[in-house]
Amino acid sequence: MAEPVYRRILLKLSGEALLGDADYGIDPAVLRRLAAEVHSLVDRGVEVALVIGGGNIFRGAGLAAAGMDRVGADHMGMLATVMNGLAMQDALEHEGVFTRVMSAIKINQVCEDYIRRRAIRHLEKGRVVILAAGTGNPFFTTDSAASLRAVEIGADVMLKATKVDGVYSADPVTDEGARRYERLTYDQVLDERLSVMDATAIVMCRDENMPIIVFDINRPGALASIVDGENVGTRVER
Ligand code: UDP
Repeated sequence: MAEPVYRRILLKLSGEALLGDADYGIDPAVLRRLAAEVHSLVDRGVEVALVIGGGNIFRGAGLAAAGMDRVGADHMGMLATVMNGLAMQDALEHEGVFTRVMSAIKINQVCEDYIRRRAIRHLEKGRVVILAAGTGNPFFTTDSAASLRAVEIGADVMLKATKVDGVYSADPVTDEGARRYERLTYDQVLDERLSVMDATAIVMCRDENMPIIVFDINRPGALASIVDGENVGTRVER
């Protein structure tokens, strides 16, 4: 097998990626499949940090729209990401992969605090690090947390998992003429308001020159293809 082209990756999984066919919560079968894919990367010596969203349980904006105070709602959203992180840790440990959950908000009896140097040390020791609770601040998203952490831990690339195999010029489900971009610049994504990640996350990656690959997490083997250097999904870079 070829040498991986990336030494350290940050994989952003939305809460939705854990849903499977359900409307709410976590599908254990999906979790097992994702854990197995991450395991195969670890076996190849790739250092893996995960940022998991919480949209399968709570989203702050949704709760606020229903009348809740936004800050409290975002706290609930962040706690949802911790729950997803614990579920993913369990699935990875069933695979025999050493894993640490680190939270941006202190919940010491549940998981470690996020401390950058410690996170990097875990990665160097071959442990998967699950970075939970987003940035720890309300009004942000886990996409922004993913770009921030990718830069902080010195990831070679940030992998943004979605339900389609990249970024399209239009919705590929409804528009036959939609075409997939193989490559985009950060400014194109911002100017054309392409739905890759929120603008805060894109600007962070742009300013720190962190490449992003948007890919279909439901395609088995996609992660392995990416670390093999294959042309998968859409690459966003300078
Ligand atoms: N959240 C937050 N600050 C952060 C990251 C997340 O307040 O830095 C909250 C916010 O309410 C958000 C929820 O956590 O709606 C879940 O995160 P997100 O919506 O990014 O999850 P995803 O869409 O990736 O499943």
